[in-house]
Amino acid sequence: MINIPKGTKDVLPEDSYKWRFVEDTAREISRLFCLKEIRTPVFEHTELFNRGVGDTSDVVTKEMYTFLDKGGRSVTLKPEGTAGAARSFIENGMASGVLPVKMYYIIPAFRYERPQAGRLREFHQFGVEIFGAKGADTDAETILLADTFLKKLGLKTKLQINSIGCPACRAAYNKALKEYFAPRLNDLCEDCRTRYEKNPLRLLDCKEERCREINAGAPSILEYLCEDCKAHFTDVCARLTAAGVPYTINPRIVRGLDYYTRTVFEFIADGIGAQGTVCAGGRYDGLIRTLGGGDVPAVGFAAGIERLLIVMEQSGVEIPRNEAVTAYFAGMDDICREKAFELTALLRRNGIASECDHMQRSVKAQFKYADKTGAKFVAVIGGSELEKGAVSVKNMATGETEEVPFEKVAEYFAGK
Ligand code: ATP
Ligand code: MG
Repeated sequence: MINIPKGTKDVLPEDSYKWRFVEDTAREISRLFCLKEIRTPVFEHTELFNRGVGDTSDVVTKEMYTFLDKGGRSVTLKPEGTAGAARSFIENGMASGVLPVKMYYIIPAFRYERPQAGRLREFHQFGVEIFGAKGADTDAETILLADTFLKKLGLKTKLQINSIGCPACRAAYNKALKEYFAPRLNDLCEDCRTRYEKNPLRLLDCKEERCREINAGAPSILEYLCEDCKAHFTDVCARLTAAGVPYTINPRIVRGLDYYTRTVFEFIADGIGAQGTVCAGGRYDGLIRTLGGGDVPAVGFAAGIERLLIVMEQSGVEIPRNEAVTAYFAGMDDICREKAFELTALLRRNGIASECDHMQRSVKAQFKYADKTGAKFVAVIGGSELEKGAVSVKNMATGETEEVPFEKVAEYFAGK
């Protein structure tokens, strides 16, 4: 017996409608906001993530699924979607096409993490990227898209936003952070001591209880923003207010990935503890240049589908299940079964979901099966029905029966 790898999950046939609901909603909201889907490979050259995610990030230093392929190249299963989308944007010369380029994706992502509720090694993201627009209105539109999506899923979340400035204001802030943390270094976790050396901003992103307590007293980035970054942030806030999207400003939000500049945000749901962030994103004006493209501003987010589903379940969201079988054709014997098979095929050609027996069951057992699977109607074919050229249809909800001639079957079930 071979078991599923640790940190991965099957989506079973009985549950997949929940996934489809989330994915269909993501596609529908993307259509409303006029985004197009991009599909990039599941693996990329490792170098893309080292550069695009940042080699001081947890994702790159500890979590990547990296291996050598048979040609000796280092490749990595994508741990997130932005780097691949950005690579494709550059490689396909999209910067010289019509801007902004607005795209979305629904992807599996891979991170070697310690599995917990809402934290897996293979997980799935709905991601959005807008390339080429630098204004605060685009940040607000991206956040509005995420907000619309989450509301459409029936979720209540809290939006927290922050600005982490540009490289210019961040330099001064990093200095202030180092001054604050220097006398407290011994109380920090080992990772944070490395972060202190390599990328102090990341100290604020630590999930260890002790570090979080210490972080609470750290200086706020908002006091270090340059005039341009301040104006940008004020503008984002004003637009969110105008759009009726409530938010709180949380100067501790920094995001785990290196390419962010200015706006960062998280949508947080109660109930799964430290895994409460169901959607996170921000602006990353430095990314395209880092990857060898030009100066192209960008903003985006990713929502974790597993976390969304956990929160939806916890808050009792009713997920529509569009899997109803309209008609089940039950055949008495082999000849009747042939007719059942034929009429089932006819209904499907007419776009009506229908099935028939494949287990050589008795009519009684076929009824039981149809009932269990939620068929709305059972159409029985026995010897007398064959003679009359009509099926005897039972409405499973009301118990009423009706006779329907074979040639009228498609017409009868249309719209039912
Ligand atoms: P966290 O702080 O929870 O580790 P992150 O900052 O690493 O999250 P991002 O890289 O911003 O997360 O990914 C965007 C979203 O993807 C997260 O908000 C979350 O919903 C989801 N996500 C990230 N890592 C995982 C994981 N290992 N398992 C399930 N979902 C995840
Ligand atoms: Mg993480």
